[in-house]
Amino acid sequence: MTKKLLIKILEEDNVKKITKDVYILPGRKGDSHVYILDDGDGYILIDTGYSDKIKIIDPRKVKFVFLTHSHYDHIGQAWRFTDVYCSYRCFRYIRDWDEEILLLRKGINIKKFLPTGVVKEGDVVESNRFRLRFFETPSHTDDSMAVFEEKRRLLFTGDVLFARGLIGRIDLKNSVPDELDKTLRRILSLPWKYLLPGHGPIERREIMRIK
Ligand SMILES: [Zn+2]
Repeated sequence: MTKKLLIKILEEDNVKKITKDVYILPGRKGDSHVYILDDGDGYILIDTGYSDKIKIIDPRKVKFVFLTHSHYDHIGQAWRFTDVYCSYRCFRYIRDWDEEILLLRKGINIKKFLPTGVVKEGDVVESNRFRLRFFETPSHTDDSMAVFEEKRRLLFTGDVLFARGLIGRIDLKNSVPDELDKTLRRILSLPWKYLLPGHGPIERREIMRIK
């Protein structure tokens, strides 16, 4: 019963439709998902992943990219795009190319880039079809940001909260475990219908449980 409400992301999935105008390009083997919002005259992306699966998207058709946090598996392909935004801390980590914070290690090569600018708590981006509101969600990292699409009530959580109430790692150099409780309360107070995390399945609100 419960399982039927989860949208499973299968290894062989390429682009999959989540709801009208919103698609997922699933991440595999530790790579993050890329969410694609079809704004009519172009796309808005949430995270880019690090693998070249994103090559199917023409960068000229991408209006904005929003990054949930600065981990390499979420930002690795952002260099392809011209309008890339993230939180102030995320911007700083990427600018300084802090390898420990970005979780870069031997064998992982991603191209350097500088985000275009920052979005902050409470900012709203209104586009043709979407209304995106940004929330700082410190816990997994201190630069994490959730994006709430208000019209469809979709919440993009990066690595802060996953389906089945699983929480992201909070033992990293820039994790803020003390903020986790507050951040989860904040997330649960938002009227989202679908939770769209950076990895794994998507979940509908009615079965959400925090473990
Ligand atoms: Zn992460």
